[in-house]
Amino acid sequence: MQDLLNDIAGKMKLATERGEVANYIPQLAHVDPQQFGIAVATPDGQVFAAGDAREPFSIQSISKVFALTLALGKQGDSLWQYVGREPSGDPFNSIVQLEHESGKPRNPFINAGAIAVVDAIMMGHEPKEVLAELLSFVRFLANDDRLYFDHEVAASELEHKHRNASLAHFMKAFGRLHHDVDKVIGTYFHQCAVAMNCVQLAQAGLFLVSDGVNQVTGTRVVSAQRARRINSLMMMCGHYDGSGEFAFRVGLPGKSGVGGGILAIAPARASIAVWSPGLDNIGNSLLGTRALEMLVQETGWSVFGH
Ligand code: GLU
Repeated sequence: MQDLLNDIAGKMKLATERGEVANYIPQLAHVDPQQFGIAVATPDGQVFAAGDAREPFSIQSISKVFALTLALGKQGDSLWQYVGREPSGDPFNSIVQLEHESGKPRNPFINAGAIAVVDAIMMGHEPKEVLAELLSFVRFLANDDRLYFDHEVAASELEHKHRNASLAHFMKAFGRLHHDVDKVIGTYFHQCAVAMNCVQLAQAGLFLVSDGVNQVTGTRVVSAQRARRINSLMMMCGHYDGSGEFAFRVGLPGKSGVGGGILAIAPARASIAVWSPGLDNIGNSLLGTRALEMLVQETGWSVFGH
């Protein structure tokens, strides 16, 4: 495995076509596109890493997996009143479907859906309390207390909030948001601004590898059924309107973020994190996807067969 990761990282370092770094959040536009990291964590406690796997980056939408897990823990299946579970086939920040579907977002991984999930986590709590809970939950998942919010990224996104604020206002107009729009999106931006490196991110995904149990720490995070369902949502919706392409090329449940990270789960085998800041035209890491494709090709880990 270590040789394979070294080989992949070596190839990715040399790639000339690297995609475009997200620039609609100015703080992300400063990140060096030459970076590439990959980490594989296995349920028996091994961690393999190569390239810039210990360099922190903004996990952005990958945080939606952790927020969903927390929200399901609080609300159980009643969460599905507020957000659907169908692929959207639309860009991550699209407003079009919301109008047709009376303000109920298609799934928890498009921005509108993630905003609805934050609203559900907030029930009766102030943003500060929610953020403290979110951060300690992600620290617990990764088994690492060093994880932090990158406040500069959150502030940068807040300055350019208009698209996400529109989604939230639109849902509010349909009576679907329970809290003040500014409080909800402020919380959402901080959630997206969690900084992690590939090793930490791979470790945080371990509960999805082993039916809801992090076998390394010996803790059950969710039931086996819930872990399976979260994986299926990642497969169907984790890469926005590129989810079909990701399933076709990689064949693993995965969630991408505009910071260039991807968390992918090979059930019963490993949790994998890749990071390269350059994005394809849909907003998914170009080299991250390519690296996962190579890894799956070599390991036969696709859930669809060897
Ligand atoms: N915070 C980002 C946004 O709301 C997340 C998008 C992403 O990572 O796909 O625009």
